[in-house]
Amino acid sequence: MTIYTANQQGIAKRITNKNVDLAHWRDWRWQLKHAIKKISMVESILGIQFEEDKRQKVKRTLDTFPLSITPYYLSLIAAEDYRNDPVFKQAFPSSRELEIEKSDMVDLQCEDRGSPVPGITHLDPDRVLFHVSNICSMSCRHCTRKPKASDTNSILGADDIPKGLEYIRNTPEVQDVELSGGDPLMLSDKYLGWILTKLRQIGHVQVIRISTRMPVVLPCRITPELVKMLKKHHPVWINTHFNHPREITTSSRRALRLLADAGISLGNQAVLLAGVNDSPGVIKSLVCTLVANRVRPYATLHPSNLSAGLFVPR
Ligand code: SF4
Repeated sequence: MTIYTANQQGIAKRITNKNVDLAHWRDWRWQLKHAIKKISMVESILGIQFEEDKRQKVKRTLDTFPLSITPYYLSLIAAEDYRNDPVFKQAFPSSRELEIEKSDMVDLQCEDRGSPVPGITHLDPDRVLFHVSNICSMSCRHCTRKPKASDTNSILGADDIPKGLEYIRNTPEVQDVELSGGDPLMLSDKYLGWILTKLRQIGHVQVIRISTRMPVVLPCRITPELVKMLKKHHPVWINTHFNHPREITTSSRRALRLLADAGISLGNQAVLLAGVNDSPGVIKSLVCTLVANRVRPYATLHPSNLSAGLFVPR
């Protein structure tokens, strides 16, 4: 069966050098395996060519903050106007990411200072952030956790998840656990299901929230099997991160519908990004489209509220 659009069909062919069918394109593992990590591949797929000095500057950025874009998310870029494209700006590196101020490196989210055990951030008495995965399906250029994601010392060890669960078990005031990352949906259904089962066995944990960008950048990760597993652990909330209405596609609508139909409460936390969504019209359109897809827009973050390495594309 052919892929949804001729553009996506062409992208799959350029990546693999062979004809790819819809089953592959809709396989989240295929998408991860074929994530685009080279500037030359972006140029080839979009049919563009960067000036040499821009390419060199971007290469220097990649030494610190790597490039990784899922074929699906890349297919949303309008190549003919890529410089102004909101998807391109969120996915493609800029030399400005290396302009790091001293204040950028401050632990504003208190991940380190508020961390009693690796992987857990405990600031408010009744809730914890549990970083269960340090990897993502792509590298978002505005990510506030980029320094951690690029730091091999920040990767959780095999013992850290059980230790985090033990901390939650031994801390009765914790009622609300937010699984974060990286992206928790990078874990297999089986392992994520195991973590959720352990959390549900802790009597004082009432609410479990999962923070993920999968519905935006890799919506085929939201499979019927995943949703069936999540349903067993209600009440489960999913907070996602759409930043622009162009990210709400047929595929992402399907992913949101699967989640909402399973009784999972959906929220969206957008980041205000210069040149991407810093206009009332874009934000209004984003909010209205999210609501129409049963997603509650619960926050739009201003960059000044965020921490290290934030890139505000221009
Ligand atoms: S998915 Fe989230 S944590 Fe991962 S790179 Fe994107 S913004 Fe950062």
